[in-house]
Amino acid sequence: MRDHPVLIDVNGEPRLFVFPDWMTGGDCTGKTKKNQRCRNVAWDQGQVAGYETVFVGDRMVEVYGPLPAAVGWRHYSQRCHLHHTPDAQAYCDPEWVPFDLERHHDLTSDPTLFAIPGLQLLPPLRPFGLALRAHFSPAERQQLAGILTEGL
Ligand SMILES: [Zn+2]
Repeated sequence: MRDHPVLIDVNGEPRLFVFPDWMTGGDCTGKTKKNQRCRNVAWDQGQVAGYETVFVGDRMVEVYGPLPAAVGWRHYSQRCHLHHTPDAQAYCDPEWVPFDLERHHDLTSDPTLFAIPGLQLLPPLRPFGLALRAHFSPAERQQLAGILTEGL
C-alpha cells in the first residue's frame, strides 16, 4: 500500500489524484451479489502510461500518467474488470483524494536543475544545483530553470 499521485484525463483535462494503492488503483468499489464489497483490484493489466514530472506551484510531483480515458475511468471509479460497467452497483465511494499541495507535501520535491525533464542527459550538475538551492529562492530557481530549458 503506497500513496502515489496519478494524472488522469478527465474530459480532456488532466487532473491529479492521490490513490491509496497506486499499483492497482485500490480495491474495487463495486458490490457483489452477496451484498459485499468486491475483493478484486481495480486495475490489474500492468503499466499503460509513463511517468511524468509536473509542477504544482513551486513543487515538483512525480506522477503516473496521464492515463488514457478508459483506464482513467477505471481508476477514477475504482472498479475491477467485472464492475466497471455503469449498471454495476457501488458498495462504497472511491478512496482516492484530489491532490492537495498542503496535505500531500511529502509527495513533492524541490525543483532542482538535474530533476528537470531533458536535463538528465547533460553532465552532472549537482554542485551547481546545490549552489542554486542555497542561494536562490524557489521562485528564482524556477525562473532560472525556465530559462535553461527553453527550446528543449
Ligand atoms: Zn469488482
